[in-house]
Amino acid sequence: MAQLPILVAPDPRLLKKSEPVVAVDSEIQQLMADMLETMYKAPGIGLAAPQVGVLKRVIVLDIAPEGEAPAPLKMANPEIVWVSDDDASYNEGCLSVPEHYADVVRPAACRVRYLDEHNEVKELAAEGLLATCVQHEIDHLDGVLFIDHLTSLKRNIILRKLVKAKKLGAGVPA
Ligand code: ZN
Repeated sequence: MAQLPILVAPDPRLLKKSEPVVAVDSEIQQLMADMLETMYKAPGIGLAAPQVGVLKRVIVLDIAPEGEAPAPLKMANPEIVWVSDDDASYNEGCLSVPEHYADVVRPAACRVRYLDEHNEVKELAAEGLLATCVQHEIDHLDGVLFIDHLTSLKRNIILRKLVKAKKLGAGVPA
């Protein structure tokens, strides 16, 4: 397994639409394993392949609280097949938008169809944090970040701060 570098916004690769996976083969299984390792180390509760520069429709999640047994989910070609009428608001963050959080409103529950790591079609009913997380990760596969759900004013403030932080980080050491 290998830890992969996580792209930070603004980055054009985070705005691209990812390609569906033809089948979950050993290459995709390796990608899923590497993404999970990267996510746990970050630490985070979800990661989408474009965040590590791979434009494939693959996401991993684990919303198990710290101290409890891990509950990793690995999904290829995840597709939302149903959403609830009622919405929920969560204070979201993102490994590609470090140190920024904002309330995002999404459907409170959803059903997701996907290919698991054995290339089998599965369906998952999600609510609460899991529903939020899976919708956030699927957004990444369509080039959408959580800040795109905010007003353009709030979004631009965060983007400007990220650009500034990147410039400081890339500065020549004194
Ligand atoms: Zn994210």
